[in-house]
Amino acid sequence: MVHNVIIFGATGSIGNSTISVIRRNRDRFRITGLSAHSNFTKLAHIAREFGVKKIAITDRQKFTSERAESLFPAGTVFLFGMEGNCELAVDDDGDAILMAIPGTDGILPTMAAIGARKTIMLASKEVLVAAGKFITAEAKRLGVQILPIDSEHNAIFQCLAGGEKFVKRVILTASGGPLRNHTPNQLKSVAKGDALRHPTWSMGAKITIDSATMVNKGLEMIEAKWLFDLIPEQISTIVHPESIVHSFVEFCDGSLLGQLAPHSMESPIAHCLFYPFRERTGSPSLSLSEIGRLTFMEPNYELFPCLRLAKTCLNDGGNMASVLLGADEVAVEAFLAEKITYLDIYRIISETLSSYTGEREQTLDGALKTISRARSVAQALL
Ligand code: MG
Repeated sequence: MVHNVIIFGATGSIGNSTISVIRRNRDRFRITGLSAHSNFTKLAHIAREFGVKKIAITDRQKFTSERAESLFPAGTVFLFGMEGNCELAVDDDGDAILMAIPGTDGILPTMAAIGARKTIMLASKEVLVAAGKFITAEAKRLGVQILPIDSEHNAIFQCLAGGEKFVKRVILTASGGPLRNHTPNQLKSVAKGDALRHPTWSMGAKITIDSATMVNKGLEMIEAKWLFDLIPEQISTIVHPESIVHSFVEFCDGSLLGQLAPHSMESPIAHCLFYPFRERTGSPSLSLSEIGRLTFMEPNYELFPCLRLAKTCLNDGGNMASVLLGADEVAVEAFLAEKITYLDIYRIISETLSSYTGEREQTLDGALKTISRARSVAQALL
């Protein structure tokens, strides 16, 4: 079980849930470091509440111009930028990191923490989508455990329970997102507000749009490939609007195990924090009779064309997944800024993927360069 935790992405949605779980178990955990981008007021509040002395900030410019230092207790040690995050990741006081930095900025700090043999509680799927090959190889080499916080992967992890050798396939469930009842024709007129209205999960804007396009599920399929050492044929997805079953594992003997829980991220976070033990969480019991029925259906590719693109990336052995990440980031950013239409997200990802020449970068640095190249290609397509 972990005791001393460093939280990356402390002021975001996963950070919030993690802090709630830790707050209820203050005698069991200590927060030894915090990292955030620019929400200094909130960060300082958390630092004071938990007596955290080491703080990493990525938006240094805003920190300086707002004189945010005065918000923190005297004696706080500040670290800045990517370098600061990597330094915090190897800090001796922490025995585990919780990685919830959105996007690919979590890759290098995660790699650094693995090098320092810290347990990794991983919420940022981009880390594995872009760098899964390097991250998992290094973790294996050093005997570092990666505990998945992403609810689907946490569900698979719980269902596996040591039966990795006997897995036939995994089935990731998908809520279908805010547009699952649209017709393909209605996608032409989807506004930002429609795509942000997620029926079950309350998350950040980027991941909510990714959920509407089902790019999120595609990224999660790639994440699952690395996390559980699966081949693409072993990974599938099914739309399950109730979001009660968080994923399934089918074993070679025909048994299908699913993990059911109310939709709160506190549940997978608590599972990782207390692993291999279990503790009470604030989570209410599921009332199966109230839920009544659970439904499952195949994803409609006319409604979710991006999912097909993502599956091509899952099957690709090279860096196509990194191209998908870069293109999607640019497209979603532009959609949220209301610079492009909803259907342009698909167009931009699709055209950026077509520009990919299939180079097989064999280094982490190469994978990172592929993402930034994809970003530039996508930017030019806006
Ligand atoms: Mg998920």
